[in-house]
Order: sequence, then structure tokens, then C-alpha cells
Amino acid sequence: MRVLRDPFNRPVTSLRISLTHRCNFRCFFCHMEGEQDCRRELSTTEIEKIVMVASSLGMRKVKLTGGEPLLREDITEIVRRITPHVDEVSMTSNGFYLEEYAEKLYEAGLKRVNVSLHSLNQQIFEKITGVNAVEKVKKGIKAAVKSGLKPVKINMVVLKGLNDKDIPRMIEFSKNCGAILQLIEFQPIQYGAPYWKKFYYDLSLVEEELKENSKDVLVRELQRRRQYYLRNGGIVEIVKPMHNSSFCMNCTRLRVTADGKLKPCLMRNDNLVDVKPILESHDLKELEKAFEEAVSRREPYWKG
Ligand code: SAM
Repeated sequence: MRVLRDPFNRPVTSLRISLTHRCNFRCFFCHMEGEQDCRRELSTTEIEKIVMVASSLGMRKVKLTGGEPLLREDITEIVRRITPHVDEVSMTSNGFYLEEYAEKLYEAGLKRVNVSLHSLNQQIFEKITGVNAVEKVKKGIKAAVKSGLKPVKINMVVLKGLNDKDIPRMIEFSKNCGAILQLIEFQPIQYGAPYWKKFYYDLSLVEEELKENSKDVLVRELQRRRQYYLRNGGIVEIVKPMHNSSFCMNCTRLRVTADGKLKPCLMRNDNLVDVKPILESHDLKELEKAFEEAVSRREPYWKG
């Protein structure tokens, strides 16, 4: 099968599609997938076209994101329409509507889900997200596990002085739910911004501790992420992109913004390829060329 490679010889095998810029949470640190204000949203048919062409070029894994993807009224239809074209459709969600949607999404073809939960403490949760919803999100996670979505991953962005002390409880909670805990390094929207310096938490020490308490460590192909299989039965994955050239060298992703632009890197907006006009013209060959152009613009953000 044809797989596109960028100028750094990195194969591009996955697509991360933002379905909307809208969100019902107001996480103060949110990078919004590196997107600038997007007012338009792609239709189900446009999303299907994008996935069909991406798949024919070797992008066989699709992750749906946002904003909050579950705010799209056609979300199950989107999953149902794109599933036949690829090997795997997954989603990242804030979990608020997951209790209601988990089973429907699984039936539509969704394979797995990441749910953001940055703290189990309601006060801290609310400080971070601006909403009182920790119990609702916990129910969403449990419903996702029950529905058959696998693995369910809990995304926790670790923020110094806010939720860093919650890590042990989060490990325990994830293990008890049958979920994998993903500890994510706080990435700046603007590098060096004062609020980033204030909350940035270096995960190196946590990783040392995890190593000591693990019976096994697996290195994932995607971005060389490490997964720690703890002796107590928990599983913790570390996502640590900052200043990490190995993370970038092993990045297989192309992104699609909510308003229909191909986006080669989370951290940049000066190299987008707008495919919305092509989608309106129904020319799939042109769409293929746009993908090739976007891949040719890919460049590791952090270099060795
Ligand atoms: N609303 C959905 C959710 O909560 O998963 C999807 C969009 S959200 C932007 C996707 C993931 O990016 C979430 O797990 C979120 O916590 C994470 N994220 C957002 N801003 C971040 C930042 N500045 N650094 C690291 N991760 C971030």
C-alpha cells in the first residue's frame, strides 16, 4: 500500500481530525489542537471524503478531536461513515457526554477513546476546566470501559502546584476502572509564556519512580512513548514532547483543522493547506495533491 513520507523520511500513517472548535469546558491551558479561531465546520460528507483520500495514501488510523467532538450532533454518523475506510477510528473527549454516547459510538465502529480527567478532586477539576463535572466524567469513563471501547485512556495534563499531587490517586482510579493513565506534559500555546512557566511540571522524576515500580516497560511506535506496566497492575503512559527530538522524529500524524485545513504540526500555523475549496469542487485528485503538499511541508518541531 502507498504510504506518504515527508522530507525527513517520516511515514505519515495517522490523521487527527478536529470536528469542531466548540467546547463545553474552559480548560485554561487548552492548546485547542494548535488551531486558531475556526468558525466553519466540515460536513459529514466532507469528513468522509477527507478520510477516504487519506486512507488511500496510507493514513489508516483516525483520531477525532476538537473542541469537544461529542458536541457534534452527527458524531455517531461521522464514526459510522468513516469506519469502513480505515483500520481504526478513535476519539479524545472531555467525557461529559460519554455515558450517553459510549455504546452508540462503539456500535458505530469506534475502537477506543481517550478521556480527559485532570483531577479527581472537584475543586481542582473545576479550577482547571471551569465546570463542576468530575462525577459525570467518571461515569463516562466507566461507561466507555463497559461498552467495549478498548483501551480507554485517561488523559491527565500535569500542572505544577495544581494537580501534580493527584498522580497516585489517578493511577489507582485508572487501574480500578480498567483504564490506562496517560500523563501529559503541559505544552505551551505560546512558548515561554508566563503562565506556561508557572504551571509546567517536568515529568522526569515521575518517570524515574514509575520505572522503579514497573515489571515491564513498552516503547510505543507512535512518538516513542513509554508505557509502564506497574507491579500493582496499573498501566501509565508518558507523553513528553517538549524538547524531545525523538518524539517528533517518530510522529506519524497529519492534522485536519475544524474548518478544513491540513495541518502538518500542532505547534505551527504557517504551513497549512486549505482543502475546503477542493471539497466543494468534489475533485478527489486535487484533494490527493493537497495531502501530498501538506506532507511535503512536514518538519519536526523539536530537532536533535
Ligand atoms: N475536548 C477533547 C478532550 O478533552 O479530550 C478533545 C480536545 S483536547 C484539546 C485534546 C487533549 O489535549 C486533551 O486531553 C487535553 O487535555 C490535551 N491538551 C489541551 N491543551 C494542552 C496543553 N496545553 N498541553 C498538553 N495537553 C493539552
